[in-house]
Amino acid sequence: MFGDGSWPLFLLSAVALVVGVRLGAGKLRSRTRGEAARADREADRADRAAARADRRGDRLNALLDSTDDGVMRVRSDMAIREASPVAAEILARSLESLRNLPLIQATVDHRLEAIARRAVNGESVRGEIDLRDARPGRSDEPRFVQVTAAPDGDSGAWIILRDLTEVRRLRQIRTEFVDNLSHELRTPLATIRLLAESIATAASRGDNSGTKDRADQIEVEVLHLVQMADEMLDLATLEAGEIPLRIASVDMRALAEEVASRFQPVAARHGGRITIVPQGEGPWQVQGDRDRLRQALANLVHNAVKYSRERGEVTISLNALGGEQLKVAVADRGIGIDPRHLPRIFERFYTVERIAGEEATIGGGGTGLGLAIARHAVLRHGGDIDVTSTIGVGTTFTVTLPKTGPRA
Ligand code: ADP
Repeated sequence: MFGDGSWPLFLLSAVALVVGVRLGAGKLRSRTRGEAARADREADRADRAAARADRRGDRLNALLDSTDDGVMRVRSDMAIREASPVAAEILARSLESLRNLPLIQATVDHRLEAIARRAVNGESVRGEIDLRDARPGRSDEPRFVQVTAAPDGDSGAWIILRDLTEVRRLRQIRTEFVDNLSHELRTPLATIRLLAESIATAASRGDNSGTKDRADQIEVEVLHLVQMADEMLDLATLEAGEIPLRIASVDMRALAEEVASRFQPVAARHGGRITIVPQGEGPWQVQGDRDRLRQALANLVHNAVKYSRERGEVTISLNALGGEQLKVAVADRGIGIDPRHLPRIFERFYTVERIAGEEATIGGGGTGLGLAIARHAVLRHGGDIDVTSTIGVGTTFTVTLPKTGPRA
């Protein structure tokens, strides 16, 4: 085969083959290289997309972690895909246990599920529901939750839960406060009017025998109104934010005497009295804002008189403790406070409901502001206020103040 002169032809084809193979191989190699580069680029893109997704995920997680609202995202099958810690707190479950849990199982609430389902179907929905409080020992009080739900653009939905239980409670307290206040204003005003009328009637008959007594009574009622007006003003101050204290040296014994003499007529009208009991020699000075401290003490003494039974004995004791602090205790032998109410009496607007018809207070009830204001003033001075009470025996409020005043 090679001797028939076809050798050069063979050689040529062999060369052609080799060159062809080379060329082919080159092409093959260059195609492989091109594909590898493309694959690399795709891998790069995928990596970048994953990094972006990670960053987005991180951002979403950071957002979910920091929001004060309960945020959840559900898939179209109504299982929870993402949830914020606050959502977990509202539903009283751990964050981990929420992931992939069907919404209905997490909330046990068909209304919430219905809202979420409408959002999954493309609607934006807002509603308010009473959600069963799943926290241990809290099941009797539902949580009032505002629900906002909207499609997430990926066949699922975002759900935002805002716990408005506290807001609703405050709204209710405010409404009760206004009711209370109008009652508290009307009662002394009606009494003053009657007393003034009876003074006028008696005077027209030339009879002045009861005038002094009635005038004293008017003074007591006016005092009650003034005290309430002071509390309202203090509330406004409290709500307007911090007004700087005007610090000076305050003689707490002199202040106690001033407050006692202000309320002495009210106590006396009911056969009671206010006594000051200094324990030790003092000194009785503290660094503080005289007006704020006077108001705090006045609120405590006013309460002590108001919530005393007839012939109430009120004592204001002072103890300089020989150290850095001064204690002022206001004690009465009045109606006492049920232990159930003790944790809440310092809240604004909180008043203890009285049994209908029970004549428990002297000179009317109140606005529920006195103790909140007293506590606020004492805390601003770097002090503390405490209460001990026994129903039917009496109540003692103890204020502890640092003698050097509030820390800068
Ligand atoms: P109020 O204006 O109703 O007196 P406060 O804030 O001063 O409001 O007091 C809150 C509640 O605490 C009162 O409604 C009352 O029930 C209770 N309270 C306060 N001081 C006394 C006291 N010395 N004895 C009995 N109950 C008191």
